[in-house]
Amino acid sequence: MIKEIADYYGVELVEVQSGDSFCKTNGEDTYIDRSFVAGKYIELGIYTDPEKRLVSFFHEMGHILTPKRVHNKCRTKYQVEEKAWKYGYKLAKSFGIEFNKDTKQWAKEQLNGYKGYEEREMGEEVWAQIKKDRGWDNL
Ligand SMILES: [Zn+2]
Repeated sequence: MIKEIADYYGVELVEVQSGDSFCKTNGEDTYIDRSFVAGKYIELGIYTDPEKRLVSFFHEMGHILTPKRVHNKCRTKYQVEEKAWKYGYKLAKSFGIEFNKDTKQWAKEQLNGYKGYEEREMGEEVWAQIKKDRGWDNL
C-alpha cells in the first residue's frame, strides 16, 4: 500500500531489506530504525516494529509534502522535523490510518532528538546552559 501512496505522489520509494545492496553499500546499521529522504526519493529503513516503519514512511512523505512556504518559515531543524510529522500524520489520516500510543510516543521522541540541534553544534557548554534555561534536563 505504501508503494501506491508513494507512486501517487511521484515519490521513488526504496524499501531497504536486511542484506540487500543498500545495506551492503552503506552498512546495515545505517538503516536500523532509520529512513532517509532527499527530494522525492525515500529510503525506508529496517524496523522490527511494522507500525514504526509505517509511521516513518509517512514522516518522510511529510518532508516531501511540507509546502515550500511553510518550509521556508522554519528556522530550525526541529521545526522542519515537526512540520514533517504534522504533514505525515495528516496524510496517514487521509488514508484512515491511525497509530497506537506507543508509536506516537516513539515518534515524539524522534522529534525531541532534534531539540537544540543548532545549539548543540555550538559546543557542550553552550548546550548545557540552554538545556538548563529551557528545562530540557531530560535530553
Ligand atoms: Zn525527518
